Amino acid sequence: MEDAIRLAGDILNSHLEEWRRAGGRIVGYTCVATPREIMDAAGILPYRIRALGKPERELADAYLSRFNCGFCRACLQLGLDGTYDFLDGLVENNGCDHLRGMFEDWQYAKDPAFFHYLRVPHTVSEEALEFFAEELELFREALGRHFQVDISDASLAEAMERSNRTREKLRELFSLREGERPALTGRQAMAVILLESSLPPAVFEDYLARFLEESERNEVRGYRARLLLAGSATDELALVGEIEDVGGLVVSDALCYGTRAFWNLPRLAGDPIHALAEAYLKHLLCPRMFDDYATRLDYVLRTARRARVDGAVLVHNKFCDLHGVENVRLRLDLEEAGIPVLVLEKEYGSGADLGRIRTRIQAFLERIGG
Ligand code: SF4
Repeated sequence: MEDAIRLAGDILNSHLEEWRRAGGRIVGYTCVATPREIMDAAGILPYRIRALGKPERELADAYLSRFNCGFCRACLQLGLDGTYDFLDGLVENNGCDHLRGMFEDWQYAKDPAFFHYLRVPHTVSEEALEFFAEELELFREALGRHFQVDISDASLAEAMERSNRTREKLRELFSLREGERPALTGRQAMAVILLESSLPPAVFEDYLARFLEESERNEVRGYRARLLLAGSATDELALVGEIEDVGGLVVSDALCYGTRAFWNLPRLAGDPIHALAEAYLKHLLCPRMFDDYATRLDYVLRTARRARVDGAVLVHNKFCDLHGVENVRLRLDLEEAGIPVLVLEKEYGSGADLGRIRTRIQAFLERIGG
C-alpha cells in the first residue's frame, strides 16, 4: 500500500500522462455532487481537484480573500501556477461559496477551453430533483458538444454499472479497515480515495484488486484508540499521518474525500439521468444541503458505531463556515450519544499547525483513555 500513498501524493501521475499521450481527455471537478459517470460515459477521465495540503497561496491571494477557506485558495494557486494545465476543462458547482469563488477566478484568469457550471439544488424535493435532472442533461449536452462525442443513454448506463462495481469493492476494502482487526490505516484509506479520482478507471480497478488482496492478509497493530474523522474537505495525507503517528488510528471517516464519496450510493435503475440526479442529490451528505442535518447525523452515528470508534475528530478548515457551524451541533449530538469528540479547527495545509494538532490529539487520546 505504500506505493499507493506515494502515487496519491502527486497531482499528476504517470498513468495520467500515459492517458494523455494516448489522446485521452481529462476534466477537473471538485465537489462530490458532480456525477462523474457522465464524463466517464464520454470517454473523459473525471479528475477530482485536490491541493494535497500544499501551503503556497501567493497567486491565489491576489484573487481570493484571506478569509476564504485555505483548501479553495490552495486549489486556485495550483490552477494559476500551471500545475493543473493538464486538464482539458473544468466543472464548477455551487458546493459552497468559497468553491464558486475559486472556480470563477480560475476561469477568469486561465480561460479554460471547456468550463461548465453545474447547479446543484440545496434541498431534496420533487422540484429539486427535476431541476437537477435538467442540469445534468445540460451538462451532458455541453460535454458532448465541446468534445464532439455522443453520450448515449446506453453508454451512460454502462458507466454507471462500472462505477457501482468499483464502489462495491471500495466498500469491501473499507469494511476491512473498520473491522475488529483493521487492515489498513486512515492514511492508506485516504490515499485509495485520492487515487480513485485521479487514475483511469481500469488502472484504478487493478490497484483496488491488489489493495483488497493485500488487506485481507494485513492487520494494523500498536494503536491507542480507534477514531472517526469527519468534517470539511480534507485531502491532507499529512494530517491523517500526524493523528496516526501519535496513536489514533482513523478506522473510518465521514469526509467527502472519504466514505461520503461512495458509501451510500444505491443501485441505479430506470432513466439514467433521473437515476443519477436522485442518487447524487439524495446522498449528498454535506452541510451545504438545507434541512438535512438529521440524515447527516444518522450517517455519522451509523459509521461511528459500525467502526466501533473510541472517539471522533471533527475537523474544519479555518473560514469554512459550513462545517464550522455543523461541527458545533455535531459535537453536542455525538457526545450525547456517548462518543467523545475533539473539534479541530485548522489552517489548511499549514505545516506550522501540525505541532499544535499533534498536542491536541495526544491530549484527546489521554482524555478518552487511549
Ligand atoms: S472546506 Fe468548507 S469552505 Fe472549503 S470547500 Fe469545503 S465546505 Fe467549502
